[in-house]
Amino acid sequence: SQSLSGKIALVTGGSRGIGAAIVRRLAADGAAVAFTYSSSEARAKAVVEELETAGGRVLSIHADSADAQAVRGAVSLTVNRFGGLDILVSNAGILIRNPLDDYSLEDFDRMFAVNVRAVFVGVQAAARHMKEGGRVITIGSVTAERSGFPTSAVYSMTKGAIASMTRGLARDLGPRGITVNNIQPGPTVTEMNPNEEDHERLKPLMALGRLGEDREIAGLAAYLASEEAGFVTGASLTIDGGYLA
Ligand code: NDP
Repeated sequence: SQSLSGKIALVTGGSRGIGAAIVRRLAADGAAVAFTYSSSEARAKAVVEELETAGGRVLSIHADSADAQAVRGAVSLTVNRFGGLDILVSNAGILIRNPLDDYSLEDFDRMFAVNVRAVFVGVQAAARHMKEGGRVITIGSVTAERSGFPTSAVYSMTKGAIASMTRGLARDLGPRGITVNNIQPGPTVTEMNPNEEDHERLKPLMALGRLGEDREIAGLAAYLASEEAGFVTGASLTIDGGYLA
């Protein structure tokens, strides 16, 4: 039988990139999967059609992570449709890079709202529905540990916040048998990282000489979601092709 059959998952930001790969993988492992998106409606529909054709139970939900009420609503819709919630993957994130002098407070606040506040709100709402064995997985970034280049201070801050929030949430939810872990991808080929010149600049910095694939990150998420990972909690797990090595 499939490792996640009977489980119900919600993935934020599942219309594209790493989130879509996680949606596909959790569905392939047998979970019913809801996911949110904010602007890529056609992409979200395509993911649903693809997985329904393969026999999966999938639901797409329009919910801008910057809107706390929308995030709470996505949790409610998931619970109402599928009858519970076992796995939350908080993946939705944005990258606004600007030189220090030009970084506006509006952009700072938006980065914080989507990359940090929405994660907290989502966990707060989801945990109310989780039973023992529940799983919370956040997608941080290796930038929590190495910024690497100029213009990434605010992004790095948001991902550092995720790493420390994960430790705190692991303490909050551990007594209920719910694990909380943070995946820290290194440079991964998605639309967040679209520039071929950037890829060439990054490759020599990676021990493996290449960028990551979205499905490689999804493999780690599937492990953390599984029953087998029940003793892993409060951890930030870096998956970066040796960018930090
Ligand atoms: P993409 O830009 O490819 O995809 C982002 C996803 O998040 C999309 O599905 C997008 O949906 C959704 N999203 C963005 N903003 C919002 C919002 N306000 N509300 C709801 N959904 C939103 O990025 P990646 O797949 O690369 O990134 C996924 C996560 O991985 C992010 O947290 C990112 O910080 C992290 N990460 C990425 C790395 C990389 O190299 N790619 C490295 C390390 C970490 P829509 O288009 O519908 O808005």
